[in-house]
Amino acid sequence: MSKKYRVGILGATGTVGQRFAQLLDGHPQFEITAMAASDRSAGKPYSEACAWKLPGQIPAGVRDIVVQPIEPPMDCDIVFSSLPGNVAREAEETFARAGYPVISNSSVYRMDEDVPLLIAEINHDHVGLIEKQKTNRGFSKGFIVTNPNCAVIAFAPPLAALHRKFGIESVVLTTFQAISGAGYPGVASLDIVDNVIPYIAGEEPKVEIEAQKILGTLKNGVIEKADFTVSAQCFRVNVIDGHMVSVRVDLKEKATLEGVVAAMRAFPSLDLHSSPEHFMEVTDEPSRPQTRLDRDNGSGMTITVGRVFPDNVFDYRFVSLSHNTVRGAAGAAVLNAELLIQKGLI
Ligand code: NAP
Repeated sequence: MSKKYRVGILGATGTVGQRFAQLLDGHPQFEITAMAASDRSAGKPYSEACAWKLPGQIPAGVRDIVVQPIEPPMDCDIVFSSLPGNVAREAEETFARAGYPVISNSSVYRMDEDVPLLIAEINHDHVGLIEKQKTNRGFSKGFIVTNPNCAVIAFAPPLAALHRKFGIESVVLTTFQAISGAGYPGVASLDIVDNVIPYIAGEEPKVEIEAQKILGTLKNGVIEKADFTVSAQCFRVNVIDGHMVSVRVDLKEKATLEGVVAAMRAFPSLDLHSSPEHFMEVTDEPSRPQTRLDRDNGSGMTITVGRVFPDNVFDYRFVSLSHNTVRGAAGAAVLNAELLIQKGLI
């Protein structure tokens, strides 16, 4: 039996924090030993501090953990962070400086040039930035690694497949993002029931820049970003979980429809505990992917792609779907931690 790492969660009571608690229950490598949240929750047992919103009970192993403020020390080896951006900047740096590997869902460090922005299957070599980050920031043992925006994870994988095989010139996309992406209590019911909102504060700029870093190349300690442009419109829609993205793409090289689909299907998964069997599934069903029916594919870790066709204006179009709180947040962070352990960085 390999060593179990003790894990702490910042923002443990929130939407993503609860997913961490659920996904880490029974995990062979990790055991939650500490949880932190705001002053509202600190000092209370997790079961009292947390308004549990996932199916099933709060896992028994975390019910009685007393929530602490978001300050070190924390009784753990690794910190997962699901804090809002406004508090994440200071807290995550403080934990990294105190010697903890911090694996973050928040957006604040994603685009910093010495911080890996990881999708484990796509750019695991970007962990090469960690040493530079430690030197730049004077961290001894600790560091920060991030996972992408929850809508970016839905379309970056099919783009990665096309970018590697044919090159990408430009991308135009529209997202259809779930309510849970806004956290809890999130969007007011009177705003979202029977409605589509064509605005998510701060979302479009993130969605337009993160994929180029993820698909970039690490050379001499610097990420050379992929040189395509992305134009994004982000919509909030009336579904609980699952971000769908409609994508149109111009490629650098000519590609057949069969070649495009084959490139996506051939993109390998990893051999880590949280890796799905298929990183991407490409469906030929004309009416799929659908959010409710496909968001849980691969236990929420598979990206489902469909409606892949030649386009009248661009080269190709497709629809892509991912589970925003699993593959787009807690599941991605857990997978990144498994990757860092495999690479000997934790
Ligand atoms: P959420 O449901 O609002 O939860 C926020 C968490 O942060 C709660 O545990 C809350 O504690 C804590 N918190 C809030 N203000 C705090 C403060 N001033 N000091 C200490 N703790 C504080 O939000 P979420 O949806 O889980 O999102 C968390 C982060 O993950 C955000 O950066 C978000 O952008 C990112 N993210 C979210 C998703 C998603 O699908 N939801 C996907 C990817 C990334 P209390 O309960 O004590 O208030």
